[in-house]
Amino acid sequence: LEYAPVHLKELFDSIFEMLDPAARKKSIVLLQGVPEHLFIEGDEDRLRQIFMNLLSNAISYTLEGGRVKVEAEVLGDGDEAEKVRITVTDTGIGIPKKDLPRIFERFYRVDKARSRSSGGTGLGLSIVKHLTELHRGTIRVESKVGEGSSFIVELPFMQYHDAES
Ligand code: ATP
Ligand code: MG
Repeated sequence: LEYAPVHLKELFDSIFEMLDPAARKKSIVLLQGVPEHLFIEGDEDRLRQIFMNLLSNAISYTLEGGRVKVEAEVLGDGDEAEKVRITVTDTGIGIPKKDLPRIFERFYRVDKARSRSSGGTGLGLSIVKHLTELHRGTIRVESKVGEGSSFIVELPFMQYHDAES
């Protein structure tokens, strides 16, 4: 990994630009709630890969007219080891409870017939989990069929400047 400070808002702006055509095609609204001066220490290409995967899943598994949102916040305070929590939420089809424990396994896909039309391999989330752990982070998912999903990534926090910099 090539560690450097990564400006989160810029990272998500560039990812949104790349995913904009796919979202438009399905009339899905992409929303961003990422504070302006938030950095994390990480490998930019790998971080991009993590969130490209999560956001393209969110678009793929959300029906026409839905909503996909990224939010970031700093957790913890003072001397405690701080973390940044980044949440990718969609208003999509959701994931059945029985599948949730296996969703990060290689090649695992919910409902193969349904998923096949989206042309994936089932590797995306296993890569996301691996890359998150390389950054000493964690990932978990909350989901409800018919309502949507949230993928919650927590990464070590780096710095939070004032607007003057
Ligand atoms: P690819 O390797 O191209 O990413 P994939 O999208 O099928 O293929 P994963 O990204 O690993 O593979 O996701 C695994 C499965 O988890 C998907 O097939 C889908 O069934 C389910 N899934 C992932 N993200 C979501 C989501 N946001 N909403 C609903 N189901 C999802
Ligand atoms: Mg995928």
